Amino acid sequence: MSNTEPSVFTKIVAREIPAEIVFENDSVIAIRDIAPKAPVHLLVVPKTQQYRNVAELAAGDPALLAEVVAVAQSLADEHTDGEFRLVFNTGESAGQTVFHVHAHVMGTNAPGITLT
Ligand code: 5GP
Repeated sequence: MSNTEPSVFTKIVAREIPAEIVFENDSVIAIRDIAPKAPVHLLVVPKTQQYRNVAELAAGDPALLAEVVAVAQSLADEHTDGEFRLVFNTGESAGQTVFHVHAHVMGTNAPGITLT
């Protein structure tokens, strides 16, 4: 997909498609992943789609990357047992399917359950 077409996350920000939004401010939105791969699986997404991956975001707007990480930590504090995985899939062969940078926050919220 060309990066000029609205991504699925841009459509969620615009309320053109539904999502379970767990956090939003002027620059970032966080939603529950539609196909969770962990008991808690959230996505933290900069509202701008100008950065395709974390390397572009780090180079272009490091403060926004820091905000994504801070939001991820605060959501993990709220939704998980405090221990979590923070993943930026970068590139198709690494499993990236949406080329609008986003962080996966994956964790558990029940004692005795660990991620595989
Ligand atoms: P990627 O594979 O690019 O690292 O991650 C994209 C993630 O977005 C996937 O985990 C996928 O399940 C999730 N996703 C794709 N489309 C939607 C959608 O319409 N709504 C929500 N909530 N998540 C989506």
